[in-house]
Amino acid sequence: MHMTRSIFVVMVCATALQAQPIVVPMQNASMRRALATLRTDNAWTLEQQASICEIAAPPFKEAMRAAEFKRRLESLGITNVRIDATGNVIGERAGSGTGPTVVLSAHLDTVFPEGTDVKVTRDSTATGGTRLTAPGIGDDCRGLAAVLAVARALKSANVQTAGMVYFVGTVGEEGPGNLRGVRALFAGELKGKIDYFISVDGTGFGATSGAVGSNRYRVSYKGPGGHSYGAFGMPNPVHAMGRAIAKMSDFTVPDAPRTTFSASVVRGGTSVNSIPYEGIVEVDMRSESAASLATLDARFQVAIRAALREELARWPNSRVPLTMVVDTIGIRPAGSQPDSARIVRIAVETGKLLGFPVTPNASSTDANVPIGLGIPAITLDAAGRGSGAHALGESYEDGPNGFLGPQWVALVVATLSGVR
Ligand SMILES: [Zn+2]
Repeated sequence: MHMTRSIFVVMVCATALQAQPIVVPMQNASMRRALATLRTDNAWTLEQQASICEIAAPPFKEAMRAAEFKRRLESLGITNVRIDATGNVIGERAGSGTGPTVVLSAHLDTVFPEGTDVKVTRDSTATGGTRLTAPGIGDDCRGLAAVLAVARALKSANVQTAGMVYFVGTVGEEGPGNLRGVRALFAGELKGKIDYFISVDGTGFGATSGAVGSNRYRVSYKGPGGHSYGAFGMPNPVHAMGRAIAKMSDFTVPDAPRTTFSASVVRGGTSVNSIPYEGIVEVDMRSESAASLATLDARFQVAIRAALREELARWPNSRVPLTMVVDTIGIRPAGSQPDSARIVRIAVETGKLLGFPVTPNASSTDANVPIGLGIPAITLDAAGRGSGAHALGESYEDGPNGFLGPQWVALVVATLSGVR
């Protein structure tokens, strides 16, 4: 009986695979023209990358860049381009009929505060390519440029997709934004409408198919404080914080799925001869598995409360209060997709056809949100070589074949949205 059942399952799988063959439209004439345009007009892509980057987009202040991104999408024939209540730019390119609906997205925001010099400098490299230097030039002006370049190439080559393609620029991808743009997208405008989501974010030839989830908290222990000698005998908020960190230090976590934790920022105390009135620790916990992250989080919640109780119990004769406040800095959903998932196979297959190997990995990007919702999603790098992401000296080097990034993105979009 058991045996029969196994064989049955194998046959079902084989049939399912046959039902969904991957047809990369390499022979489609209009698609070939689109790919050729992306190569020959590579300078246009780089120009978009540099000029959009010179419009500052600090966390929560992406509006200027968003307005310009909207204007550019409109000029490339993308229709019904709007800015939603959260600040995301959303535009449409209609398909011919009933194919799957695909989102092609990049993020507008940077990590850099208001007032950062965003002037782009250019120089030529030894390989004959171009190097652009400016904060955010790779992360994610490269992605924004790739999205624009794909819109332009599909239009100029008159590529007909079967499904609708949404062209999107999200806000709030970076740490402080906590994915608020892409969350709003899937809770609002695009809720229930999306079959596949592609984010273009990063440089090189990587594909992110696994969503590393993260739970980040700020834990504050607070008391009245007092003189370190005169007021001795009361609970000490920094000691409570220390107890919490000590408990966390001894957590054991699985190697697979990779699960991590760190006490990252500590604050407290004003002078060496005072019992401080607060002890604050910020904590980052991550995992590719939602279940492992939940388990770790539960242990953490127990530990920080135990630390509070133990510090209070340490001074049974004190009437001084000690309290704890937990603020959530950010929660990003975790999730994984097998390498056999259609969107992952398409990313790998199209890369191979363009001549580079693609190894899917796990990271934290806009794709976390759809992956967490069970919607197939992937984050693609857009070729070139980046260095110093999140640093003021960030640079992007296009090298001899930076055009492969936009070509890859275009092929993945076309394959997913049913160009034949
Ligand atoms: Zn990014």
